[in-house]
This record gives sequence, structure tokens and C-alpha cells, in this order.
Amino acid sequence: MKKHWYHYLWLWSLFYFGMGFFNILFAWLGLISFALPLIMAIGYGNKLFCNRYCDRGQTLRALGQLGLSRRRDMPGWMKSKAFRYGFMVFFFAMFGSVVYTTWLVYSGIESLQQMVSLLWTFHFPWEWAYSGAVSPWAAQFAFGLYSLMLTSEVIALGTMLLFRPRSWCVYCPMGTLTQLICQHKMRQG
Ligand code: SF4
Repeated sequence: MKKHWYHYLWLWSLFYFGMGFFNILFAWLGLISFALPLIMAIGYGNKLFCNRYCDRGQTLRALGQLGLSRRRDMPGWMKSKAFRYGFMVFFFAMFGSVVYTTWLVYSGIESLQQMVSLLWTFHFPWEWAYSGAVSPWAAQFAFGLYSLMLTSEVIALGTMLLFRPRSWCVYCPMGTLTQLICQHKMRQG
């Protein structure tokens, strides 16, 4: 298969998680992964972001090509609408809780938590990644967003290992949301 520049977008994932490890403020760049698919779906009614420009999609594809995936079919329930929509609602509720925690720190009700949460369960101290250069609320949002991005990356990698390389994309919240937007736009004609 001919290689295109976007096949190397997995480098962006490496850059993002690598830089966020040392300086949490890089986590803000994760908003690009929220904005771009929405802009393409709302503006053009297509899934071009998923098909080409998603760094995570390209990472999963590249790791699959390295033979790291068992290439098994996913269980039916993971493809069901109930699971996909339920996971989307849960994921965006978790994003909402990141925003809410940021607001609590901004208002002075809570103090900055310099930690990264994995799978909404395990909390890791991450103090080295924040030098105090920006307001605590900006750092709080970065810690929260990095936690969310890292958690979804771990789930995506686990799904890649167990099933087919891009199985995560079946129930990815951004993928489900942009699919709903594209379907809505198609119905509108
Ligand atoms: S479904 Fe999600 S992870 Fe997969 S390509 Fe689309 S946005 Fe990226």
C-alpha cells in the first residue's frame, strides 16, 4: 500500500503523550483531537478525520501492521448501539467532570491536584510536570485532559491487542458522535 503523510500521524500521539509526561501543559493540545473531527463532521458531513487524519487511528493501524493484534472479532455486545452510545455518554460525562473540576479550582473551592488518573481508578502523582508557570486552573484542566486521553489510549491499545487493530474505533466516543452528526446531515440532505 502506498504510504501517505497521514500514515505517520502516530508520531503526533508519541509527541503528545511524551511531552505531557514532562510538561502537563502540552495536554491542552488534546483539544485538537476533539475539535478537528467535529469541524469536519459539522462542516463537511464526512468522516475524513477518522478515515485519514486521526493520530490514534493511525497508531492502531501501524501497531496492527507490526503484528501486535490478535486480529479476532470483537464480541457482539461491544458493537451494539447500547454499548457504543452508553460509552459515548459516559466518556463525555467524564470530560464534563474534568471541566467541572477545573471550574472548582478556578473558583478557589478546591486546590490543584497534580496527579494523573488512569481508568478513572488509579491515581499517579505527577508533580514534576507542572512548574507553576500558569494559573492552577489551566494546569488542572491539563491534568484532567491528559488523564482522559491516556485512559482512552490504554483502552484503545488493549482493544487493539485483543481484537482487530482498529476495534477501538467501533466504540470510540468521537467516532460515534461524528457518525451521528454525519447521519443527521445526510438526513437533512
Ligand atoms: S473512531 Fe475515534 S480513534 Fe478511530 S479514527 Fe475516529 S476519532 Fe480516531
